[in-house]
Amino acid sequence: MSVDLVVVGSGFFGLTIAERAASELGLKVVVIDRRNHIGGNAYSAAEPETGIEVHQYGAHLFHTSNKPVWEYAQKFTRFTGYQHRVYTNHGGEVYPLPINLGTINQFFRAAYSPDEARALIAEQASEFSSGDAGNLEEKAISLIGRPLYDAFIRDYTAKQWQTDPRNLPAEVIARLPVRYNYDNRYFNDPFEGLPVDGYTAWIERMADHPNIEVRLGTDYFDEDQEINKAATVGNVPVVYTGPVDRYFDYQGGELSWRTLDFEQEVLPVGDFQGIPVMNYADTSVPYTRIHEFRHFHPERNYPTDKTVIMREYSRFATRDDEPYYPINTAEDRESLLTYRGLQSGESGVLFGGRLGTYKYLDMHMAIGSALTMFENKLKPLFSARAI
Ligand code: FAD
Ligand code: UDP
Repeated sequence: MSVDLVVVGSGFFGLTIAERAASELGLKVVVIDRRNHIGGNAYSAAEPETGIEVHQYGAHLFHTSNKPVWEYAQKFTRFTGYQHRVYTNHGGEVYPLPINLGTINQFFRAAYSPDEARALIAEQASEFSSGDAGNLEEKAISLIGRPLYDAFIRDYTAKQWQTDPRNLPAEVIARLPVRYNYDNRYFNDPFEGLPVDGYTAWIERMADHPNIEVRLGTDYFDEDQEINKAATVGNVPVVYTGPVDRYFDYQGGELSWRTLDFEQEVLPVGDFQGIPVMNYADTSVPYTRIHEFRHFHPERNYPTDKTVIMREYSRFATRDDEPYYPINTAEDRESLLTYRGLQSGESGVLFGGRLGTYKYLDMHMAIGSALTMFENKLKPLFSARAI
């Protein structure tokens, strides 16, 4: 086997490593993935009846404040000017998110100025100060007060996590902005857009290099495959982006994840909900949100008499489910310490990506951390070997 580097996982982390290693260092790289498609969770494909691009593992919105990552992405794709906006259905009424002056005025049936709204929320939030908010509920109340928390956060979070918000970390909610103006852009980042010809075209261009071979349907733990754990460790450098607990045979305990179930439907209407994503804040509706994919690309000529929607349901993952969101309980954090120790004893293997580090990483974070790993770990490793 004439291979310089094995990459396990063809998501954004693995492909960034493979692309850099092949293009900049001229290494021969084999990327394996146990799925039968490239791209990890960012994979998308045209729905056959309508041609509408569907993100197969839930809506993926690209946004970043990291200029080098934005510039790196431009090598493989152009971006549309898409800006993400989300609305939420509560009590049969639709409100704008993230919580902004529009949401506050609609909810309180008022016409508050920014300062009046700030004063009202400060009073309603006074039971917790942001500094001593130790969990999601306290953090959310310290930011928006109890009435807005009860309406828009409490039940949605219960559906999303099936965990008492008092037992969830404050960080989960801290990434949602609260604005005292009418700006309802979902993200604050200066760079945002969707790949003009789709995620899969972008991802395929990253892998399109004579030194990169991608082998799909290849599980790293299947010893019948030519490239597997037993055959590679100690023989060729490996970048592993699969689940870290699986790599070590769960000897530090099983890390807990949430997974999602998606219910996709083609409907005989041109426009189902008028917006890409509608959240459902109440527990009377079992799903958390509905995606309508045509709205991600208003610039495309999609059929005007059909649309594709996807209802999203959230639940705890079993070992056989796709792991999506790390839950990060106290037990998980303890297991992770064990795995970090085991990783440092595994020479020639670098662990990265969302599954390999047990961290929620957006696409831009996965690309950014792969670029850092390439510069700080892989380049020195291969230049030392060349001496
Ligand atoms: P992944 O994309 O998960 O890729 C890991 C790959 O490793 C997979 O293809 C898997 O099959 C493979 N693998 C695992 N085990 C093995 C094995 N034993 N052998 C071989 N291959 C293996 N990011 C955003 O920026 N914006 C969003 O809107 C957004 N929405 C998201 C929505 C959901 C539901 C999820 C789950 C993620 C979302 N993300 C979003 C995050 C984005 O998907 C991740 O940043 C990206 O997937 C991370 O890339 P990765 O390469 O680390 O992992
Ligand atoms: N959240 C909520 N109501 C909403 C949207 C979000 O309570 O309408 C909370 C919920 O706890 C969620 C967190 O905010 O897990 C982060 O939301 P985000 O939209 O970033 O979640 P993601 O898109 O990652 O599922």
